[in-house]
Amino acid sequence: MPWIDKNRCTGCGICVNICPVKAISMKEGKAEIDMDKCIRCGKCHDACPQEAVRHDSEKIPIEVEENIEKTKKLMENFNTEEEEKAFLERMIKHFNKEIKVAEKSIENIRAKLM
Ligand code: SF4
Ligand code: SF4
Repeated sequence: MPWIDKNRCTGCGICVNICPVKAISMKEGKAEIDMDKCIRCGKCHDACPQEAVRHDSEKIPIEVEENIEKTKKLMENFNTEEEEKAFLERMIKHFNKEIKVAEKSIENIRAKLM
């Protein structure tokens, strides 16, 4: 899924005009994608002269960092080492579930839609 690197975006508006489903708007001079509307056509990625529309995979380190920060914040709710350990095990289970959802989705797309 595409995302906008706000540091690269100059607000030229090319992507706004090229998007076939009007999923991109300008917020404070920078492009923003409404992922509920986006149909993943890739046109904005190809059209941006600043290479500000980035690939999904480039967001992996950012999302990992967000997950770690969220986990740290939630961990503040637990007081003992035992509680913290149990909480971290639950977070690991949660992320393992996310892996399984992704794997099964890929498997089903390949088996049923391709
Ligand atoms: S085309 Fe690129 S630089 Fe121009 S508004 Fe869109 S994301 Fe920003
Ligand atoms: S990928 Fe296509 S639908 Fe999604 S924001 Fe870009 S141009 Fe619009």
